Amino acid sequence: MRISEILQRDALSLSFEVFPPKTTSAFAGVKAATEAIAALGPAFVSVTYGAGGGTSRYTLEIARNIRERYGVSTIAHLTCVSSTRELVRERIADMKAAGIENVMALRGDLTPELSQGDRSGWAYHHAVELVRELKESGADFCIGGACYPEVHPESANQKEDILHLKEKVDAGCEFLTTQMFFDNNLFFNFLYKIREAGITVPVLPGIMPITKATQVERAIQLSGSFMPQRFKSLVDKFGDNPDAMKQAGIAYATDQIIDLYANGIKTVHVYTMNTPDVAAKILDNLSHILG
Ligand code: FAD
Repeated sequence: MRISEILQRDALSLSFEVFPPKTTSAFAGVKAATEAIAALGPAFVSVTYGAGGGTSRYTLEIARNIRERYGVSTIAHLTCVSSTRELVRERIADMKAAGIENVMALRGDLTPELSQGDRSGWAYHHAVELVRELKESGADFCIGGACYPEVHPESANQKEDILHLKEKVDAGCEFLTTQMFFDNNLFFNFLYKIREAGITVPVLPGIMPITKATQVERAIQLSGSFMPQRFKSLVDKFGDNPDAMKQAGIAYATDQIIDLYANGIKTVHVYTMNTPDVAAKILDNLSHILG
């Protein structure tokens, strides 16, 4: 089913993000984790894509397996940075052949080598170009895009970032998913600003349950997210006790989700990090809310 149709439903729901393995030997374990996550019955599952294309085969395999075995809708991610037009077109053809209906169109992160190198020969510089390529492919994909409540790190300011976001939506993104954030006010302010800028598509807030102290540094590095004092205190207090940290991190994420639902959001996207027990616990915490 198209994600745009799922997002029209009135029910509150969660979507889950999983990632493919980097190596063939890890495939069986990752596949089993993604199946356990799909079996929880989320609104849909999104399957990320390794920039550079190393795990592209697995993205499609996992997305197809979840859809066929569990009847859960999936969205396959695709990145374009530093890819040739031929490679991207090949990937799009593979998606069509695999019966993929939904595609998350991303640029991909710039590695230090990519950001320092000569970009003049690149076929794609921004995700908007991939959105256009997908539209021109003739396949009727439902296309999603990424957005950044705390501003993309390469943007000079939020106004410029939102201007480019509007171009991406106008090119054909039917919904947006945010980078992770730990302070809901940042999301609500962002939502207000993009609505003011004329972006009307649904926006899924992305919530990352931090269950290990070691994830904090990585999350900040990846997303540049602001960590509220309430969250820092929790890591300070429970960071050395894995069980307590996991419980506290899940409770914090649950709290964020409840606040989002209470303020009008219908679907929240959870970065599950391929951990079915964390996804299950969050669903359990919301059992009376999700109905
Ligand atoms: P863009 O939309 O191209 O934006 C990147 C920057 O360029 C922004 O600063 C934007 O303002 C600016 N910009 C956009 N258009 C223009 C323009 N026309 N002119 C000038 N500047 C412009 N990475 C992966 O490798 N695989 C994944 O599966 C993956 N999934 C993700 C899912 C979500 C929900 C999110 C939030 C991120 C994901 N990422 C993934 C990371 C993503 O690739 C990076 O955040 C990347 O740096 C930006 O990707 P984008 O698609 O937002 O890029």
